[in-house]
This record gives sequence, structure tokens and C-alpha cells, in this order.
Amino acid sequence: MHLAELIARPQSEKGKILIVDDQPLNIKILHQLFNEEYELFMATNGEQAIAICQKVQPDLVLLDIEMPGISGFDVCQHIKADPETATIGVIFVTAHFDEVQEVKGFQLGAVDFIHKPINPIITTARVKNQFTLKRQSDLLHSIALLDSLTGVANRRQFEQRLPEIWKHCCRNELALSVVMLDVDFFKRFNDRYGHQEGDQCLRHVAKTISDSLQRATDFVARYGGEEFICILPETKLAGAIHTAQKIVNAVQALHLEHLESSFQEVTISAGVASVLPKSDLTWQTLIETADQQLYLAKENGRNQVVGLGL
Ligand code: GH3
Ligand code: MG
Ligand code: MG
Ligand code: MG
Repeated sequence: MHLAELIARPQSEKGKILIVDDQPLNIKILHQLFNEEYELFMATNGEQAIAICQKVQPDLVLLDIEMPGISGFDVCQHIKADPETATIGVIFVTAHFDEVQEVKGFQLGAVDFIHKPINPIITTARVKNQFTLKRQSDLLHSIALLDSLTGVANRRQFEQRLPEIWKHCCRNELALSVVMLDVDFFKRFNDRYGHQEGDQCLRHVAKTISDSLQRATDFVARYGGEEFICILPETKLAGAIHTAQKIVNAVQALHLEHLESSFQEVTISAGVASVLPKSDLTWQTLIETADQQLYLAKENGRNQVVGLGL
């Protein structure tokens, strides 16, 4: 996702709130308060609450503490322990003020407390404040994972994602490919056309790579200066080579002038590596292999794809 889209998002999308209480009447009161401004989800017990958090990733949870079965505290602990749900803001809704309980709630990672009976003005103000904070922190978090020059994912995001995808493919016995891409004769490009033009060229290349990827699970990151890397989950060698070739062709089809290159226009080279992830292999090996294949593509004359299955 590009920066502009990210920044535009908080205004265009309704926030999601999950209301959890074993008493339907309490849910009804909160529902009336927030129904117009937010997209609401409801749960009447802890199990439901955890399942909804995993499924819809609400921004905030208004969480009753005392419930039969799993208590609100346990639900909070569960939400905070799972990296997929850990950033959801938890606000406890409690029947009476109890300092010991509040201390415990904050220690478990809650962001605020609301007391019953619900005071509409205090409750909406607290929820609105937390919602604003949550949106800002989501935005900062996303920006920290994007490359500021090109808007594609940065290396930090890549390094978070690859081990997760590796595990997923390992568990489900799915093929995994990576494509390492590098602009040809880019030093000469900068020398001839200047650094500004060089930056502009990298933006075009990044967009072209990202537009060439078709599946929602395909992923591209800027790996280094003029190097990009794609992760193609559930893709075998032949499919990955096909995709890499499509990218190489698409970059040449931009016809960006590069008179210091033997091709007279900007081109890139690609190294592809594919594997059926297993526990005795590591994702580092996959990257090293792609890097070696990229080196071969350069040696063979650039503007081409070389690949190897492990
Ligand atoms: P090869 O075909 O073998 O890849 O040669 P190359 O010149 O592309 O490779 P080399 O590694 O020698 O040079 C890469 C150049 O990329 C050096 C640097 O000036 C340029 N570069 C790296 N990051 C950026 C950037 O963010 N902006 C610009 N404009 N240039 C960059
Ligand atoms: Mg209750
Ligand atoms: Mg390079
Ligand atoms: Mg290069």
C-alpha cells in the first residue's frame, strides 16, 4: 500500500469496535452510543470475543471484566499475547471502581477503564480518544515498515514477513519462491543522469514490480539501494521464473532512456530461488540462493532471469 493511501485511510474507513458483556442490556446501551459512528461487533462471552478479535481485528474492545467462563482479564491477556491481535486497544468496562482491579487491568495492557453505569459523555470521550490514538499508532507503525523513496515495503518489513511466511509454508507443505531483482548498470545511470533522476527511476521500477505481482499474498520490498526482493508464497520454480520474466519485461517496456547501458534503456536482472520449506532448511539459504542466481544473471549479460530449485 502506498503512503498516500495509508494516510487517506483513517478518514475513509469506519473504526471497528467489539463490545463484550455477558449482559445483553449492557451491550445494548453501548451499542446505542456507538452504532452510528463505528462498525460494531458483539460478544457475550470470552471465547466469542477472542474469536472475533482474530477474525475482524477491531480497533478497540470494550471488555466487561466479570463474565462466566473466561473473565475479561483472561481475554485481555489472550489478545495481548497473540501478535496478530496485540495492537487492539482494550478498554475495560467495570461495574464498580476498584483500585486493585484497575491496576491489574493496566498491567495486562489495557488502555483505559470505563465505569458502569455508563455515562454517555465520559464514555464517548474516552472511546474517541483511544480510537484517535490507535489510528495514529497504526499509521506510524505502517510508515515505519515502508520504504520512504518508493512506497513499497522496506527491508525491516521483509525481515518480519519472510520468517512468518516460511513457517506457514513449512506447516502446510507449500512451495515458496523468492525473486531478487537488481537494476542493471545503475551506477552509470546516476553518473550520467544525476541522483534525482536515479531516484525517479527507482520509483518507476518499484511501481512496475508491484503492479506485475498478481496474487494478494505476493509481496515486494526494497531490499537495498537498487535491489528489490519479492516473496511468492505457494509458488513453484516455474511459476516464479514466469513472474520474474514478466517483471523484467515490464521494466524494459517502460523504455526509460539509459544510454550508458548496452540495452540503451533501463533494465533489471533477476535471481529466482524456490523451495519446499522443511525444518532442516532455513529461509536464509533461500535468499542466498536467489542472490547467487542474480549474480549468474548479471554474468550472463543482464536483463534476464536465472533460477534454481533447492
Ligand atoms: P550491475 O549491473 O552489476 O548491478 O551494476 P550497478 O552499477 O547497478 O551496481 P553497483 O552495485 O555497482 O551500483 C549500484 C548503484 O546504485 C550505486 C549507487 O549510486 C546507486 N544507488 C543505490 N541506492 C540509490 C538510491 O537510493 N538512489 C539513487 N539515485 N541511486 C542509488
Ligand atoms: Mg459481566
Ligand atoms: Mg546492487
Ligand atoms: Mg545494479
